[in-house]
Amino acid sequence: MSLPLNVENTALLNKYINLPQNGSIIAEYIWIDAFGAMRSKARTLNKKITSVDQLPQWNFDGSSTGQAPGDNSDVLLQPVAFYPDPFRPGSDNILVLTECLNNDGTPNKFNHRNAAAKLMKAHAGQEVWFGLEQEYTLLDPVDGYIYGWPKGAFPAPQGPYYCGVGAGKVYARNIIEAHYKACLYAGITISGINAEVMPSQWEFQVGPCEGIKMGDELWMARYLLDRVAEEFGIQVSYHPKPLKGDWNGAGCHTNVSTKDMRVPGGMQHIESAIEKLAKRHDAHIKLYGKDNEQRLTGRHETADMHTFSSGVANRGCSIRIPRSVGIEGYGYFEDRRPASNIDPYLVTGIMTETICGAIEG
Ligand code: ADP
Ligand code: MN
Ligand code: MN
Ligand code: MN
Ligand code: MN
Repeated sequence: MSLPLNVENTALLNKYINLPQNGSIIAEYIWIDAFGAMRSKARTLNKKITSVDQLPQWNFDGSSTGQAPGDNSDVLLQPVAFYPDPFRPGSDNILVLTECLNNDGTPNKFNHRNAAAKLMKAHAGQEVWFGLEQEYTLLDPVDGYIYGWPKGAFPAPQGPYYCGVGAGKVYARNIIEAHYKACLYAGITISGINAEVMPSQWEFQVGPCEGIKMGDELWMARYLLDRVAEEFGIQVSYHPKPLKGDWNGAGCHTNVSTKDMRVPGGMQHIESAIEKLAKRHDAHIKLYGKDNEQRLTGRHETADMHTFSSGVANRGCSIRIPRSVGIEGYGYFEDRRPASNIDPYLVTGIMTETICGAIEG
């Protein structure tokens, strides 16, 4: 006789998820590992949290995540932000974003937030806003092939899928809808979603967010997506070129403005930022994501990795000035080079350094 397999019956979970917690709250501590993937673990706290400094430091075994050697394995988790937890709704349960610190309090090797936060603070007067367009691809976790595609074969060529509507053109919309609502519940500044050019590829946008908040909110939006997709049994890939051939890659276009760019006369500030970016093309490309050379080929709405270019409304450029910004004469610009797998702290950090200047001293 075999036991009934009810572990995937999520209706059963609903019996428990709304049980009162007797005043305790659950805090899910989240961090970024050595491979740019997210990890998390939960703990009970004895009261509702109203500010980040009420959250205790915690730690984990860094030797299990590639973040520390086995003989000195404790890595500290320093809380930096918290959000309502859509997976444990009600009862003041929270998701806690943390920075990883070594025993001596210095940032862990894979903690790129620490340096970015310092840059953002030094240039806070410029009020740098970002908007990130996160593209991603859905995979079947069993064989790693693109979700919904005929096995060992391909769907019809690209064309009908971008912002597509209707069966055969749209894949896994339920996941995207669930993620959108989860982001809004958590207070993420998600500004939209759309289906992408390659079938089973999607995009969400987060922003505008000022300074370090951009990296924080993008990492949290990725965490929410990974968790939602986990429930649906689908894997999320952030690889910039999940499939070779005539299929679009995945990017993370980075939209940027300073307070001077956002008011009449702003175009001259946008142009001077682009001049500075032209001089540091190689330094930026180095941080813009692993395997990005597979994507930045000059085809599929990208600019060639080895040359810097800019233009109004041109999707084949490194930097694009949106048409509406060109007409109005102020607003923001878009850096189209970053890959989907970038660390948003690295991109927003170097962008701030290039357009506002390195920290003195
Ligand atoms: P695209 O036309 O390139 O597909 P999207 O609409 O997908 O652009 O994304 C544009 C992003 O730019 C959004 O995240 C939006 O919040 C952000 N954005 C809008 N205005 C600004 C601004 N002034 N500064 C920085 N980001 C901005
Ligand atoms: Mn243990
Ligand atoms: Mn977009
Ligand atoms: Mn896109
Ligand atoms: Mn874009």
